[in-house]
Amino acid sequence: MSDASRTVHPIGIIGGGPAGLSAALWLKNLGFAPCIVEAGARPGGMQNLNFLPNDWVLGHVGLTGPQLVDRFVAHVEEVGVRLLRGLRPVQIDGAIGAFRLWLADDQGREQVETCAALVLATGTRYRAAEVLAGVPGFADLPADCLRYGPYAFDALAACADQRVLIVGGGDNAFENARLLIEAGASVDLVLRSPPRAQRYLRTLVEQAEAAGACHVHRDARLARLERGSASIAVTIASASGTATPTVDRIHVLAGYEPNLGVLDALPDGLRTALQRDADGYLSVDARLRTGVPGIYAAGDICNPAFPSVVSAIAQGALAAKTIELDLRDL
Ligand SMILES: Cc1cc2nc3c(=O)[nH]c(=O)nc-3n(C[C@H](O)[C@H](O)[C@H](O)COP(=O)(O)OP(=O)(O)OC[C@H]3O[C@@H](n4cnc5c(N)ncnc54)[C@H](O)[C@@H]3O)c2cc1C
Repeated sequence: MSDASRTVHPIGIIGGGPAGLSAALWLKNLGFAPCIVEAGARPGGMQNLNFLPNDWVLGHVGLTGPQLVDRFVAHVEEVGVRLLRGLRPVQIDGAIGAFRLWLADDQGREQVETCAALVLATGTRYRAAEVLAGVPGFADLPADCLRYGPYAFDALAACADQRVLIVGGGDNAFENARLLIEAGASVDLVLRSPPRAQRYLRTLVEQAEAAGACHVHRDARLARLERGSASIAVTIASASGTATPTVDRIHVLAGYEPNLGVLDALPDGLRTALQRDADGYLSVDARLRTGVPGIYAAGDICNPAFPSVVSAIAQGALAAKTIELDLRDL
């Protein structure tokens, strides 16, 4: 068969974040017909919630997450990638070379797509209210004093004269603490286990702690939250005793969970063949193959060593190259 007459295989990509968008671009350039299935109305994934400039993507200076997303989406649309919005798979069957996807929108309207291979790129979601659910008094707190995940970053200037309790010990919690301290807020940071944040951020927060600009509660847990007329009385139990700060708002920055809803669409046999790691993320080999021939995964759903836009983009590209290799003779 000549190159010109060879079959153009459709490839289904579930999730339109940086990993899915990148996989689509590379697949298109490699001669496939990629189709992105994005559950949300707007592709771009977690970057839509990055309200600050993203300083970590080479060549894109000063752009916020949504501005980066606009560029990514414009690029894939320009090369003619199909981008289906507001749809998610409700049933998947078949095998490499001929998967069938039943897609449904929020109203239950369905359409069917066929594809030779699948890329799972559904990313993660931030942990939210479940983190505080067992703390006595939590249920009585008004919603407007609670911020979860990305929303802890959306009104930093308004926190200048506020007292903020931050729950979490990773990069996001420490970055939030640093920015709030810079903005003039008073910060209490509650760490359940040793901090996982990068050293640079830890050093900045520790310097602020030494200067009396914040309190870090180590090896600590929230024992009680009590709603006052305009504030929250907090009881923190830690290795060094009990602290009782009064705060105006609580920011929960306690990590992420993989978005695995897509697995419910798979028949039992395929679902169990997809290996998961100890944290529940999808396990893949060095070429991003899952345990099922023809199903690949890319981006934060694979629990990368450093979840980020550039690693998601790199994995999207690698998944595409692996598909080209595996389907070369199909
Ligand atoms: C507030 C915030 C700030 C960040 N800042 C930075 C930064 O400055 N620099 C940086 O490099 N990284 C940053 N990150 C991390 C970065 O955004 C992620 O690592 C990256 O977006 C991961 O890309 P992804 O495509 O793997 O997943 P995601 O971005 O999570 O995209 C997954 C997509 O899949 C869709 N989806 C989920 N389930 C389904 C389904 N069943 N069917 C169809 N679609 C589905 C989702 O709607 C989503 O659009 C930040 C993250 C957050 C939350």
